[in-house]
Amino acid sequence: MLVRTCCNKFISAVKSSVEYRIICKKSDFTKNIYNVNRRNFNKLEARHFQFFKDILGGERMITDQEEMRSYNEEWMRCVKGISSMALKPKTTEEVSKILKFCNDNNLAVCPYGGNTGLVGGAIPVFDEIVLSAELMNEILNVDENSGVVVCQAGCILENLDNKVAEIGLMIPLDLGAKGSCHIGGNVATNAGGLKLFRYGNLHGNVLGLEVVLADGTVLDCMSSFKKDNTGYHLKNIFIGSEGTLGFITKVALQCPPRANSITLAFLGLQNFERVLRTFKKAKQDLGEILSAFEVLDTPTMEFVNERLKMNSPIGDFPYYLLIETSGSNEEHDSDKLHQFLESCMEKELVLDGTVATEPHKINAIWSIREKIPDVFKDCGYLFCYDVSLPLENYYVLVDDMTQHMGKLAKKVFGFGHMGDSNLHLQVEVDEFTREIKNHIEPFIFERTKQLNGSISAEHGMGFLKARYLNLARPYNTVKAMENLKKLFDPSGIMNPYKVLPW
Ligand code: FAD
Ligand code: ZN
Repeated sequence: MLVRTCCNKFISAVKSSVEYRIICKKSDFTKNIYNVNRRNFNKLEARHFQFFKDILGGERMITDQEEMRSYNEEWMRCVKGISSMALKPKTTEEVSKILKFCNDNNLAVCPYGGNTGLVGGAIPVFDEIVLSAELMNEILNVDENSGVVVCQAGCILENLDNKVAEIGLMIPLDLGAKGSCHIGGNVATNAGGLKLFRYGNLHGNVLGLEVVLADGTVLDCMSSFKKDNTGYHLKNIFIGSEGTLGFITKVALQCPPRANSITLAFLGLQNFERVLRTFKKAKQDLGEILSAFEVLDTPTMEFVNERLKMNSPIGDFPYYLLIETSGSNEEHDSDKLHQFLESCMEKELVLDGTVATEPHKINAIWSIREKIPDVFKDCGYLFCYDVSLPLENYYVLVDDMTQHMGKLAKKVFGFGHMGDSNLHLQVEVDEFTREIKNHIEPFIFERTKQLNGSISAEHGMGFLKARYLNLARPYNTVKAMENLKKLFDPSGIMNPYKVLPW
């Protein structure tokens, strides 16, 4: 058993939400599509432009309309703003001066990282000033003893990973967007990705942050220790705050050693009950070397076949698992995985499988999972959701949506980071209509709630989901969030219309 492989390299792209279709079709501005009212911020005047020019010089103050397009549109064109200026500071001091001035002059600001977010958080809704971290890209220190890297917020994730790789470390975060996204954007969205299962989320791995508040105050929470209980853990409030509480300028991140033995299994299973039992067994049998546990269903594999012209390397099964191990001893890790797989087959949990140990074969198998979102934008109409669910309900939502959609959908399919209880659920239809959209939403969110899930697992609320916050969280919790916002940003200039309901 178990040694077949497949081809191709990987990359990925994820896309969410039907709103993309509406906007792309009409090519209209977010404010018009969603009927948002502009808050009472001041408009830019000549004296404002002069102030920013004095701080940054002409080159780091973008006002050219053509150049502004990339700051006004999301990579998938889900949302579209009308900002007339983007600022590109290089230092914390410059960020502080800019924000103080904006606060004093009641000018709204939209923090901008790598613009790979999927919920419209980094794009202005109206004429907010875009504050970009792209020139804040210095790696300030890599401590070989502790494995802590300290850098500016605009460092690109992949560059950081390459840098720490030089001394045998890795960044404990891996996304398909790693070639473009910033570490500051990752922290601002509390990004998840493929390594979260093994290394945990950024609340654990980010040891310190430097943040500039709306009034220009520099908040130094730059600890480099895992243990530092000196008062409230303020940095955690900014992790996942999506630019609404302050602008992140520096990050201290704990980097684990880079694994030198990686193995990937691709398995076929009969039903979801066995998928669940295999997950429990994998945690038990593989222990510390288990590094990823991803699931795909049959409609997803059909989608992969049709759209990507890639086949399952093991034939057709109702469910597929990708189980990755990573550790430091190839023989030990490989023995452990093979023992686990043999035991799974004896117990008839797994029907067939293939294992890859060579990097190009591992990448080839990962590409089956990673390339799925690449072709989302080529589909007729695809409604995409990113939810967390208790594992006993993990696949219930896909079954419910399939039934709920009936003949309205061409295909309903589910895949995701099962190890983290995170499901990506897609509904493919022939063409977008408001009736279909209303048939899906809010049903899908309400059902997710009934199943004790979360309506946003790893992509955040941004602009596109902000109006569902009241559905996701109890009244008092939303109130506490609003009070926190008032505390850090009393005038509400930081990324308005995002996260909190508008
Ligand atoms: P942006 O998109 O620029 O901004 C995102 C939000 O953060 C905005 O609200 C913005 O205002 C705010 N922000 C940005 N920089 C700062 C700053 N310095 N200070 C304060 N606020 C700031 N996400 C996952 O969680 N897991 C995945 O596996 C994953 N895979 C992806 C794959 C692809 C191909 C793509 C395109 C996206 C994927 N994403 C994933 C979504 C996205 O990459 C992440 O949300 C990422 O963390 C965003 O980083 P960014 O620098 O591009 O931020
Ligand atoms: Zn994901």
